[in-house]
Amino acid sequence: MIAMDAPERYEQLIAFLDSHLGGERHELADGSLQFFGGDPPEVVVQLTETSVIVSEFAAVWESPYTLTARPRRVGLLKWRRLPETELFNALGTLIKGARESRLASFRACAECGHNTAPEWMTGKAICHSCAEKEQRRRSVH
Ligand SMILES: [Zn+2]
Repeated sequence: MIAMDAPERYEQLIAFLDSHLGGERHELADGSLQFFGGDPPEVVVQLTETSVIVSEFAAVWESPYTLTARPRRVGLLKWRRLPETELFNALGTLIKGARESRLASFRACAECGHNTAPEWMTGKAICHSCAEKEQRRRSVH
């Protein structure tokens, strides 16, 4: 019975993720779908033929010019094994938790007050764009 419902459930999952995340969607090389929510990104969800994996977005600077996404997994659901209501409740809860955890890592810039993602903050508690302005000011004088 579950197998018969699978293609329909898969479409439901896509519709749910589109409406709850509302961001970009990418197809990965292995055929799974990756959904992003938030701007800057807060949540990443990967949907495969058997699993839906929810992660809190995180990123690291691999070089001064290369920011690489390093999502932190918060939960994996075997979506074919769960009844509809429980599946979507669990998925909604995981997305909410990942988003709250990500937003809790944001800090207000000491200079402009903008609420900023950790990868865009410098060690001096100011955001990258304020740090750049500061640097330009110094190089002029
Ligand atoms: Zn700033």
